Amino acid sequence: MDGNFITLTIPQKKNIALIAHDSKKQEMIAWCAKHKEILQEHTLCGTGTTARMITDQTGLRVKGYNSGPLGGDQQIGAKIVEGRIDLVIFFSDPLTAQPHDPDVKALLRIAQVYDIPIANNKATADFLITSPYMREKYDHEVINFRRSIRERAQSL
Ligand code: PGA
Repeated sequence: MDGNFITLTIPQKKNIALIAHDSKKQEMIAWCAKHKEILQEHTLCGTGTTARMITDQTGLRVKGYNSGPLGGDQQIGAKIVEGRIDLVIFFSDPLTAQPHDPDVKALLRIAQVYDIPIANNKATADFLITSPYMREKYDHEVINFRRSIRERAQSL
């Protein structure tokens, strides 16, 4: 690569974030129950209510951040920036206006910037969770943020 990108590795055991809007929570819980075997090989976290409901109803251990409308999506976005989240399953509701819509957009954008696999519906989540990469390391190219800051500081 030309230095504008660096190679980062998504490890075999992944940090997975789980988020579901209210109308999608039951769908998320059913999806987690269906894929429990593979999910429990990884480290799980999620927005507060989603995390609690998954744990209560499937027995999976899911670390909960704040509730989405209270900043949970932003916490997960910040963890992506820090390299602490490797994959996101986000069952968003396309038919209901959300008070935290800017946070949702920000999360989608930051996942794109850092080339993080992110599913925003069940079919995509099914394709992701059955990928051979779920049990392998995966190298990907991510913008070289250190170089970007150095160059900006010198040129602006
Ligand atoms: P919740 O947040 O899991 O706390 O309900 C999800 C969201 O609305 O982003």
